[in-house]
Amino acid sequence: MGEETTHEKVLEAMAKLSPEELKAKMEESRKMCESFCGECPTYTGTGEKELLFCILGRSSVIKEQKGCLCTAGCPVQKNMGLRWDYYCIRGSGKEQMAKEK
Ligand code: SF4
Ligand code: SF4
Repeated sequence: MGEETTHEKVLEAMAKLSPEELKAKMEESRKMCESFCGECPTYTGTGEKELLFCILGRSSVIKEQKGCLCTAGCPVQKNMGLRWDYYCIRGSGKEQMAKEK
């Protein structure tokens, strides 16, 4: 059994990536996000074009919660040890993690 993946540990590991590795990871994650954020009722119709709110932080456009698909199987949520939702409104995993402390 491996150690439990926590968001804190993932962020620490990400901070050690080279710019190229980080770019590749972000691009890969963005593609996964498209099928979740991009299809969710909170996102669609708002004109928002950004994705990856769990990493990049809240949307400047999205304000109204109409359902969130982050916890409905998005691989980024799992891979990055994320435990929250509505990142587009409530802020990145890092921000939501900080609020718990
Ligand atoms: S963070 Fe959740 S609510 Fe916001 S756009 Fe993504 S899936 Fe939708
Ligand atoms: S956890 Fe949510 S915000 Fe993050 S990539 Fe997945 S769908 Fe997008």
